[in-house]
Parts: sequence; structure tokens; C-alpha cells
Amino acid sequence: MTPLRAQRLTAFSWLEHGFGTRADGAWTPVDQTAKLHQIHTSEVVTIAGPGHHGDGDALITGQAGVWLEIRTADCVPLLIADPVQGVIAAVHAGWRGTALAIASATVAELRRQFRCRPRDLEVAIGPCIASCCFEVGEEVATRFVGHITHSDPRPHVDLVAANRQQLLSTGIPTDHIESLDLCTACGRAMFHSFRRDRSDGRMVSAIRIR
Ligand SMILES: [Zn+2]
Repeated sequence: MTPLRAQRLTAFSWLEHGFGTRADGAWTPVDQTAKLHQIHTSEVVTIAGPGHHGDGDALITGQAGVWLEIRTADCVPLLIADPVQGVIAAVHAGWRGTALAIASATVAELRRQFRCRPRDLEVAIGPCIASCCFEVGEEVATRFVGHITHSDPRPHVDLVAANRQQLLSTGIPTDHIESLDLCTACGRAMFHSFRRDRSDGRMVSAIRIR
């Protein structure tokens, strides 16, 4: 297996990226990888080199050669690139991070620190639990009004749609947002799913500037 790729990001020769499956394991070289202790917040961390960068759920860099790594099993991995400013980001958005609008927070930091224009940003959304399998209780459902696909017998939430709406409201064009539309909980052979397996297995999504 090789990590899955999004068409739009693949078009940029200055970029490398991938959404790892369970067969890929940790597929980026440790000494070239920046990572976080992910805590389901909207904390965005800007880094200049590899290594462990503490608590947070989104990484940003303009530095070439450093992989930004996010680990997920059901949560939404987002990889973002600005071909004009040459800046990238990787985001971990579970339901908590999505409810806290981490995608919006990441775009806000890209604008503030790197003068990125939302209309230039390209976003790839990797495999995550889709609304087919993301059944939630009322307490979670109330945070995702407008993104409930059906409620029979319990509410099902579309996390990709919720993240997409955040990105659109920052001004990113709709055709700059590509979702692989793969459900981790349905894809038993290919993906880890915390909800399905209750295991520690995580998949690595990563992006870097060559
Ligand atoms: Zn599913």
C-alpha cells in the first residue's frame, strides 16, 4: 500500500502529501516529521522544524522538507496548501475540534501569519467516519444542527460537511475543497476505526513542501 492522495494537491510539484491507510503505518521519516500531542482542541501550532511540538491539533509551516503529521482513526484529517505563499497546514478535526471550528482557526492563522488569501487555499479531506456510521447522542447532535443527515433511530452527523462549511465561510472556493469521501468505519480492511474497533490504531496523514 501507499498512502492515498488527493487529486488537487497532487497537481502541485512543490508538494508531497498522503493519507495513510492501516497498512502504511508511520510512513514519514521520524527525523523529518513534526507532530503534536493531539487533544481535541482548536489549538494551532506554527513550526519551523521536525520534532514533537507539544499540545495542539493543527500544524502550520512555510519550511521546506518538514512533514506535518496528523494521526486519526475516524476523526477528520485535513491537509491545506497555499500555492501562492508556499505555506502548508495539517489539521486533526474530530467532532470536538470540528465543534470548536479548528478548520476556521487554521485558516485564520494562515491569514494572520502568512498573509494567505482564502481564495488561494487548496484543501484535501481524508478518510474519516462518515454520516453512514457516525451515530451520536443528542448532546453531540445539538452542536451540529444543519449537518444531521438522518435521525432514525438516532442522529447521524456529517463531519465532512461541517468542516466544508467552515472552509467555505472563510472564502475558500468550493472547487478548491476535495474530499476523498471514504468512511473509516465502513472500510474494515483498509482503515483503523476507533468507533468500530476500540483500538489504539491510528493512521498517519501528512504533507510537506519539497
Ligand atoms: Zn460508514
